[in-house]
Amino acid sequence: MSKTQKFRFRNLYITQLPPYDMVAFKSYKIATIGSHSALQILKGAHDEGFSTVAICKKGSEKVYKSFKVADKIITLKDYKDLLKIQDKLVKENAILIPHASFITYMGFEDVEKLRVPYYGNKKILRWESDRNLERKWLKGAGLKLPKIFNNPKKIDRPVIVKFHGAKGGKGYFIAKHEKDFRKKIKPYKDEKGYVIQEYILGVPLFIHYFYSSLTNELEIMGFDKRYESNVDSLGRISARDQFALEKVDPSYVIVGNIPIVVRESYLPRLMEMGENVVKESKKIAPPGLFGPFCLETVLTPKEEIVVFEISARIVAGTNPYVEGSPYTWIKYNEPMSTGRRIAREIKIAVKQKKLKKVLG
Ligand code: AMP
Repeated sequence: MSKTQKFRFRNLYITQLPPYDMVAFKSYKIATIGSHSALQILKGAHDEGFSTVAICKKGSEKVYKSFKVADKIITLKDYKDLLKIQDKLVKENAILIPHASFITYMGFEDVEKLRVPYYGNKKILRWESDRNLERKWLKGAGLKLPKIFNNPKKIDRPVIVKFHGAKGGKGYFIAKHEKDFRKKIKPYKDEKGYVIQEYILGVPLFIHYFYSSLTNELEIMGFDKRYESNVDSLGRISARDQFALEKVDPSYVIVGNIPIVVRESYLPRLMEMGENVVKESKKIAPPGLFGPFCLETVLTPKEEIVVFEISARIVAGTNPYVEGSPYTWIKYNEPMSTGRRIAREIKIAVKQKKLKKVLG
């Protein structure tokens, strides 16, 4: 067969790949847990010619069946049971793609124990899961972070109080000063720990990056802001009515994600921030962070970019971009979601016999 012969994979024609490479990458399957960004990950894998496996909790299979993104569905009673089906996944030649729900449901200690090939650097999970280590990493990268108040007596500006292990911004509260803090913390006696963080007034911006460990290039994949209940609806009630209502404390429960295109003159700074995060990660957890990641920031009217968190893997904010974002369109000239970008990276790694470079 000639080198330039076309091979049909689902709806996609791939040119200039000799049969050996096609066979080599086709022997791998892309697998992930059925939640969070799995639709995008599995669709992206299909677009690159891979077979896919969705690992679902009983009841969630119907989504992955309906959207036809999974060639195989494995149903579990509990996500923790993933450890029990490892042999099956290894036999399938599956490569697991992590996402936030994956890490939350399994816990990073169990993820570290996984024997199934895993896309990404597992060593970075510890740094991301511990608020103190995370802060050390981001500070080391030279980023501007919100001030932390270790003593409530020292609160001298609006703060946001976040409980360790709080899911999806549930149970956060804002306090003005020490007295306000003491009053609002009362119902949370059973909480194990919390952080008192300076509340940054500005607009939230979630930056989606992809760092290739094959080319050492950092890409901007897109941006989003979250749609959070009830904070995103408070502006629809006048201050007078808010006062009239008995208790309208803001909460940050994530409902969805809204795409954003940023002012272009911000891009050099945003790219530099991503590069510095990767550079620092190589020092703290070699070979460092690679694949998709996200900096969660607030941009102030003074044009400061304050980072309050990092996600060291694909974020749900990339979900609106199944067909690609304006940025990936400019770079790739073809639909390129973050899920598809992951699959392409794995495909290139197999082709170049560098699969170890993308597995953790
Ligand atoms: P998180 O759980 O840390 O991702 O935060 C949930 C939401 O709280 C974010 O989407 C922001 O809207 C808001 N938030 C978190 N930290 C801060 C901060 N330091 N200043 C202002 N808003 C924040």
